[in-house]
Amino acid sequence: MLPDFASRVVAWQRAHGRHDLPWQGGHDPYPVWVSEIMLQQTRVDSVIPYYTRFLARFPDLATLAAADEDDVLALWSGLGYYSRARNLHATARRILAEHDGRFPIDPEVLATLPGIGRSTAAAIAALAFGQRRAILDGNVKRVLARVFGIEGWPGERAVENELWRLADALLPDRDLRAYTQGLMDLGATLCTRAAPRCEVCPLGETCLAHRQGRQRRLPAPRPRKSVPERSVAMLVLLHAGSVLLEKRPPTGVWGGLWSLPECAEAEEPGEVAECLGCRVVDAVALPIVSHAFTHFRLRIQPWRLRAQPLPGAAEPGRLWLDLNDIEGAALPSPVRRILLDARA
Ligand code: SF4
Repeated sequence: MLPDFASRVVAWQRAHGRHDLPWQGGHDPYPVWVSEIMLQQTRVDSVIPYYTRFLARFPDLATLAAADEDDVLALWSGLGYYSRARNLHATARRILAEHDGRFPIDPEVLATLPGIGRSTAAAIAALAFGQRRAILDGNVKRVLARVFGIEGWPGERAVENELWRLADALLPDRDLRAYTQGLMDLGATLCTRAAPRCEVCPLGETCLAHRQGRQRRLPAPRPRKSVPERSVAMLVLLHAGSVLLEKRPPTGVWGGLWSLPECAEAEEPGEVAECLGCRVVDAVALPIVSHAFTHFRLRIQPWRLRAQPLPGAAEPGRLWLDLNDIEGAALPSPVRRILLDARA
């Protein structure tokens, strides 16, 4: 174990770390929590505009808890991994109902709330409450794997357990906020995946990966699996400047978002449109759109259909959205792209 690991990280954070992120500067757990959830799987520069809009619309827990899920999802639209938004909303309601509107201080209790895992609970506990808790997000896993030469993919249980053991053992007794933030900053700004800047890293002298020239090989990447492809046709049913949308089921891909009616590629779009209560006037196939999810790739064949709605086309779970309102609606990003193309 490196005795001066923590003091190097703390000193570096104070001199060179990030101090002007929009969620920094206070000890209110609400902005820390929102930012931590947004930062899961998303880079800081992508998160900042979403975070700023989100906080302007939902400045505190009570406002978020009182919001409609559609409004929360609309502000998340384009950020991806929508279960994060649904969990954020659900957690705000749980904290209001079960904890009198106050964030639990105990990380074990925090980790029972939707969307808050062990590392996120520890980050909130350390950054908002100054508690002595180890974090282990993707950036920190990379730093520790490199400094200590940990072999194997960090997604494997045994490797992750070893990284947690290290993260716990390295925790200092003081300066927990600067230390926690420093580890995050190091991973995000110096010890990046593709271009680590070892020459200016405070851990460079002792880092095994640096000393052995193995930065590119550590941590080991996720074992390769071929990504399956799924195909679907989407119907852009247009009538009087509006498009017919359907609400997705609350869980699963794009859960809770508004999307286009779908059918199998082999089905006749006009017949499917009739089942949705629309008589099709004409149909044009639009360019194929491809969208990558973590576990599969979705190939979308969009159809632009001029339609005449029959009674029943606007049942519960369906709506006609004015094409001028596409930007602000809770839509998956490929669907928004298709609609913007279809509108053009
Ligand atoms: S020396 Fe290089 S590889 Fe090691 S922690 Fe620093 S930036 Fe990462």
